[in-house]
Amino acid sequence: MSLTVTSLASGSSGNALLARCGDDALLVDCGIALRTLEGLLRYQQLEPRRIRALVLTHEHGDHTLSAAALARRYGIPVVCNGPTREAMGAELAGLPVELLPVGELAAIGPFELRSFRVSHDAADPVGYRIAAAGATVAIAVDLGSWDEATVAALCGADLLVVEANHDRELLRASPYPWAIQERIFGPFGHLDNVQCGELLSRACDGPCDVWLAHLSEQTNTPRVAAAGVRRVLSMAGVAGPRLGVLPRRSPRGPAAAPTWRSEERMLVQQSMF
Ligand SMILES: [Zn+2]
Ligand SMILES: [Zn+2]
Repeated sequence: MSLTVTSLASGSSGNALLARCGDDALLVDCGIALRTLEGLLRYQQLEPRRIRALVLTHEHGDHTLSAAALARRYGIPVVCNGPTREAMGAELAGLPVELLPVGELAAIGPFELRSFRVSHDAADPVGYRIAAAGATVAIAVDLGSWDEATVAALCGADLLVVEANHDRELLRASPYPWAIQERIFGPFGHLDNVQCGELLSRACDGPCDVWLAHLSEQTNTPRVAAAGVRRVLSMAGVAGPRLGVLPRRSPRGPAAAPTWRSEERMLVQQSMF
């Protein structure tokens, strides 16, 4: 058994991340149209009913667009905290919702799941640490700042999925109105490439894989994000992380979506030591 993580979508036009172990799966966020998601799951050869839970980070539409529709059509339980459920209002009415208070451990099939609070302008936004088959993925997207608790929540994970939303200069030069720029820059907005690099330089205490996530289409590019994060890591003398950048929408095709497999990571580690 191994842990496999696949990004189906990442960014302000929608987020969906799949964690699989054996025949079981968890979906973290469901911010794309249901038909699109069903198509992407077909490419992954995953029957939607095998998703054991739909786990929500927060109530914003780019994370929840078709959450209720997916849960209703396939009878998939939604896992989130109380304030997030309340913020979603009638959308989740009548659906199976399992409340997971921040910081508590949940066992769902082969997965162990724990949320941690992040700083973002939503009711009670969280990231997640998901462990299965001896491997761990930690996910922190949509956060405007980080603190020691964020570092602790990410530390030691084999795969870190962390937001690198924008480049500061590209955001200042963008046509976004000032108020929106201030919201994105603010402590409850989104991490820029430098902040992401600073967080990773603290959280990556050894070899690990990193996916830079939730890139802005207008104010970042994969190349700018990777270069910006690498610069900060090298200034901090941190050489462990291997960086990848998530596309906004995974290309259609059986093997096209970015996928991380714990057994390959283990192999890399064995050959390194
Ligand atoms: Zn978002
Ligand atoms: Zn958000």
